Amino acid sequence: MSFEKNVYAVSLQHEIAMKVESENPFEAMMARFKVASDILELDSGMFEFLSTPARVHITAVPVVMDSGELKVFEGIRVIHSDTMGPGKGGIRFAPDVHVDEVKALAAWMTWKCAVVSVPFGGAKGGVRCDPSKMSPGELERLTRRYTANLIDVFGPDRDIPAPDMNTNEQIMAWIVDTYSMHMRRTETAVVTGKPIVLGGSQGRVEATGRGVMTCTLAGMEKLGLRPNQATVAIQGFGNVGSVTAKLLQMQGCKIVAVSDVSGGYYNENGLDIEAMIAYSKNNRNSLAGYPEATSIDNETLLTLDVDILVPAAKENQITVPVAEKVKAKIIVEGANGPTVAHADKILHDKGIMVIPDILANAGGVTVSYFEWVQDRQGYFWSKERVNRRLDRKMEEAFHDVYQTASKYDISLRIGAYVMAIDKVARALRLRGIYA
Ligand code: NAD
Repeated sequence: MSFEKNVYAVSLQHEIAMKVESENPFEAMMARFKVASDILELDSGMFEFLSTPARVHITAVPVVMDSGELKVFEGIRVIHSDTMGPGKGGIRFAPDVHVDEVKALAAWMTWKCAVVSVPFGGAKGGVRCDPSKMSPGELERLTRRYTANLIDVFGPDRDIPAPDMNTNEQIMAWIVDTYSMHMRRTETAVVTGKPIVLGGSQGRVEATGRGVMTCTLAGMEKLGLRPNQATVAIQGFGNVGSVTAKLLQMQGCKIVAVSDVSGGYYNENGLDIEAMIAYSKNNRNSLAGYPEATSIDNETLLTLDVDILVPAAKENQITVPVAEKVKAKIIVEGANGPTVAHADKILHDKGIMVIPDILANAGGVTVSYFEWVQDRQGYFWSKERVNRRLDRKMEEAFHDVYQTASKYDISLRIGAYVMAIDKVARALRLRGIYA
């Protein structure tokens, strides 16, 4: 039995032992974390340390609603690790925010930051609420009170939030203002993903898609695929999907299919991405009714006969049955957790290169790091400089993950985890355990 198969056997046994439901992001992450820690032969103490969040904050967030009624929401902030630096990770507002999921997402950020070598630990936060039913005023009061409750947690040297699901630049601006009022000085470096006028960075909006593009080109090079010979299908046409589509098309790739919640759009001669972006913008962010394409459903898009598949919509899209039918040579995970853990082995056995989320979509956190650096320097870079430095960091990260995967003869996903966990574990050993 080859070493690779051994690794998967360990993973499978572990999954069976834990009765892992691969749909649960925490368990999906832990299944991969466990495989990587076995390869690194982490001792049980280190394993426990690295899988336990450093701090979990749960706080009641009272808000006087527009009606005059008082409502109390649950606010969460988890710092998984601060071994490498301050916590870093988004804040989401959603009705299903739960502390277990936030813990998993925080750990994910630790590994993602380590993969691209930015000096941050991992964190994540959220408020359980339904923002679609809240007015701007209610959202502002919720954001400010959540920030005030966590005033000793947040800070440019402690924990730096960013936007995530249903949070945006405006919410980051309210956090900056609330934090600054308490500190008695303006402190823009407390969050990233801010409006440019308030210390945001050039290139932040395109950063994740740009990183996906860089990883795609790096993966293609390894397989000897030339951009102008490559066909691409992209699931999701939001921030990540549309920017990836545009940039890959600019590199010469033929984008034959894209999708959004309204369905999939296929054109074997290549889609006009600029036209689709404009169409979607004028159609309330929907491609519904786009004329220059044939309609296809979601599963068809994922299993098209293309060279590159970019899932850039949401988690758990490449399930076991989908994985069995995928024909792409490379999957580049623009979304977080688009592949269920049980599908990893199937894709690996089929010889499909999977560029994992913690590498492929780390362009966003990389430019967040650049934003924080610029705020602290008080000196702002041109878009060209941001893009150049982002490209370099993503290329280096791809190279490092590829080397690690080759060294241990494992997939890029497990390679990325091995590299990240090894970095944090080595830093921790050097720091030692303070007693
Ligand atoms: P977004 O809300 O801008 O876009 C999501 C897109 O997916 C939309 O076009 C939506 O219509 C589409 N979609 C939703 N359900 C779908 C389905 N079932 N089939 C096809 N399309 C569907 O979100 P985004 O910022 O582009 O994020 C997409 C993914 O990338 C998420 O997993 C997110 O966590 C991850 N991610 C985003 C960033 C970032 O900087 N925006 C960074 C890292 C990871």
